[in-house]
Amino acid sequence: MLKRCPKCGIPVKIGRLMVWGKGGTMNTRAEPHIRMAIFHADVHESTVREIENTLGKPDKDLMYLAEKNVSKSFFMGLPDRVPGFEVLSRTTKFKQKLLEEIRKYAQLMGYGHVEIIDYDPGVGGTIRIKNPFNLDLVAAAVSGVFEFMEGKAFKCEWEKEGDGYYLVKTRVMEYAPLSTEQLPVETFTGLPGEGNLLLCKGCNAPLILGENFDWDEKEGVIKEKRTGRRYIILSTFSLGRVFDELSREYGESVYDILVKAQRDWMYNHIEAIGLSMDEPRDSEGFQTFFMDYLGVFPVFGYGNPVSFDSDGDIIEITVEDPCNIYMMAGIIQGLYESLSQVPATVRWEEDGGVIKYTVAPG
Ligand SMILES: [Zn+2]
Repeated sequence: MLKRCPKCGIPVKIGRLMVWGKGGTMNTRAEPHIRMAIFHADVHESTVREIENTLGKPDKDLMYLAEKNVSKSFFMGLPDRVPGFEVLSRTTKFKQKLLEEIRKYAQLMGYGHVEIIDYDPGVGGTIRIKNPFNLDLVAAAVSGVFEFMEGKAFKCEWEKEGDGYYLVKTRVMEYAPLSTEQLPVETFTGLPGEGNLLLCKGCNAPLILGENFDWDEKEGVIKEKRTGRRYIILSTFSLGRVFDELSREYGESVYDILVKAQRDWMYNHIEAIGLSMDEPRDSEGFQTFFMDYLGVFPVFGYGNPVSFDSDGDIIEITVEDPCNIYMMAGIIQGLYESLSQVPATVRWEEDGGVIKYTVAPG
């Protein structure tokens, strides 16, 4: 077990690795241009299922390649941060240590329990994963790590080993296909914001995390206490990239599907935590409730909800720097529908990093 914060109970490493800004964002402390967020673990799968229902089975290779490239690009700042990286990175000992650090990181972020079965520098390795949050994406991330460490293209195969257990084998490829080209790292700057999130004095992570989540970094599982639902911490670049890749193949409707999947998830989530209303609340109660809930956005790194206006049943919510415009649209729509029990539509206007969402019955 990692060291726990005596004040809030979560692993102290979370507050060391991540930093929460005033703009409703969460970034890695080591490389502040890399933006992170806490997503429900079904965020990809729920959308993929919806794509399957409407457009047909999506090409998982596309998602695999996108995630592999994102995983690789995640480490691109490492050579600048580690003195002597060029020389060190050629040694087996360094690579083994790096792999071990990444294994622990993956567990802390909630990706599942990870074991390194074997590793042969320059050739490949075998990883056992128990309860991956998403097998395709975890396998892709593992390949990305190997490609970064070895500077070569890797292919990856995985098989089921037992109940909840999978073996992921990565092996070097003789010829690198074009699709494994290195992606540039997406640099996030963001608006300054004026949020004042309550941070734990013991570990610098938002206090609300310890109140609401159980962290099992050995099993690689983060669970919401109230619902038992699983969550992960992921780079927002990763989430966006996977869906951008799918939209290039299946068209813009992928984004509508992303909105709908998140709307459905949010609707069910509010039902699950027992907050939906059988009868509509008065408008003041509705607004208070809505904004209280949106208060969780900065904790999750989703952006800064800065205003709420309503005109009858129509509401307008402004969010600065939403971590993913479509996902937040779905969440806001789902929240509206579950709290009012009225079917609604959501649309938005974008102005720089400021998004004005309008939700109306219909
Ligand atoms: Zn703490």
